[in-house]
Amino acid sequence: MGASDVIVYVPPVLFAMIALAFLVLWYMGIATSWQWSAGFAQTGAGFAFSAFPISPVFDAFVSGLIFIGAAYCYGSAVLLHFKAPMHRLERRLFALGYLVVHTYIIFVTASLRDELLLTDVTFAVLLGSALCVVIPKASRPADIAMIVGSMIVVIDTLARAIFFYFFTEAGNQLADFVNSNYNLAVHITTITICILFPFSALGAMASAAIDRHRDESEKDSLTRLLNRRGFEQAVDRMPQSIGIQGAVLICDIDHFKRVNDEYGHAVGDKVIVAVADELRHITASYGHAARFGGEEFVVFLPGVSLEHAVAIAQLLRVSFSDRDWHLIGIDHQVTMSLGVSAIEDGKSGLQAAIDRADRALYSAKASGRNQVAVAPRSSTQNFLSAHNWPRRHRA
Ligand code: GH3
Ligand code: MG
Ligand code: MG
Repeated sequence: MGASDVIVYVPPVLFAMIALAFLVLWYMGIATSWQWSAGFAQTGAGFAFSAFPISPVFDAFVSGLIFIGAAYCYGSAVLLHFKAPMHRLERRLFALGYLVVHTYIIFVTASLRDELLLTDVTFAVLLGSALCVVIPKASRPADIAMIVGSMIVVIDTLARAIFFYFFTEAGNQLADFVNSNYNLAVHITTITICILFPFSALGAMASAAIDRHRDESEKDSLTRLLNRRGFEQAVDRMPQSIGIQGAVLICDIDHFKRVNDEYGHAVGDKVIVAVADELRHITASYGHAARFGGEEFVVFLPGVSLEHAVAIAQLLRVSFSDRDWHLIGIDHQVTMSLGVSAIEDGKSGLQAAIDRADRALYSAKASGRNQVAVAPRSSTQNFLSAHNWPRRHRA
């Protein structure tokens, strides 16, 4: 048995192993779809016809269908990965068109060259069109690598098809396929450059899974705002050179227990989501908003002066209470109280500012709710009487 005899066994075994690995990853919830596994399994099965030929017509007919099935699955996997529209109808109609022409070529004209050109071009269009749809959505480096890996497969397929159709004088009988240079070229490129394809897909999936887990551990599931841990991570990720300066807001819904008691927990949840929407709105261009727990929220506004932060807090308070609460079934106004403070000394001052804003919030509650209270700077704290501290900003 020579080296070129052994080579035919490599792709079926390799792709069967890859398909199995992707199946396990899908079962574990890491792979976004089973289509990757199905695509690699079909690719392996298609190659098995070169290792274990049955009859030229049967092999050509079935292996063509299997390769196109693989391309369809790869296309679906790529579209699902990027949450892009699936275009199922168009892709299925295209695959059906292939089936008709493929059947005609195999059973009527029996031209090997036409058959190879048809299958390769169909394969390239099914995978390539899905890639074209998702290219604008790729931003993660691993996703870009996956698109490049997939594009290599498409280009390899097209280049080989064109070369063998137009520039070689190979035999044109279906029986010529197994020992053709074309078949050897497919095996060699598959084992070398095209093996990048499953690895780049694996990288993209791993990267997406890591992002998903980070998202789950750093975000609050009800509001999709940062949780306390996510807030701390976001602050840690800020460029050191800027330093931590700015202001902090803390807000808490007024008499929220009554909302829960009167309207039920589900309506209470909608009120919490409404707070999150308001906070997302004000931090859209800068700042970090987080749900620290229950119905208490913290906003960090980097580089914002205390006066500006107070104005933002007032806007927030008014915008929240002016919402149309009937939309979620509440027939009275829901309000919030806020505490505001300035960050005094860099990162270590952020926690101190949160504590001072929290005390200001407590004061806003004690003074009748639906108001913004401002924590004085800590250096002046000792000078202010309990009566004057914190200053209150009423509506
Ligand atoms: P105050 O004006 O003093 O803030 O009064 P309050 O009734 O709002 O009191 P507090 O802030 O202590 O209320 C906390 C309540 O928030 C208690 C709890 O039932 C409710 N809560 C905490 N987390 C959730 C949640 O995820 N969903 C709902 N619906 N309620 C929550
Ligand atoms: Mg409350
Ligand atoms: Mg509370």
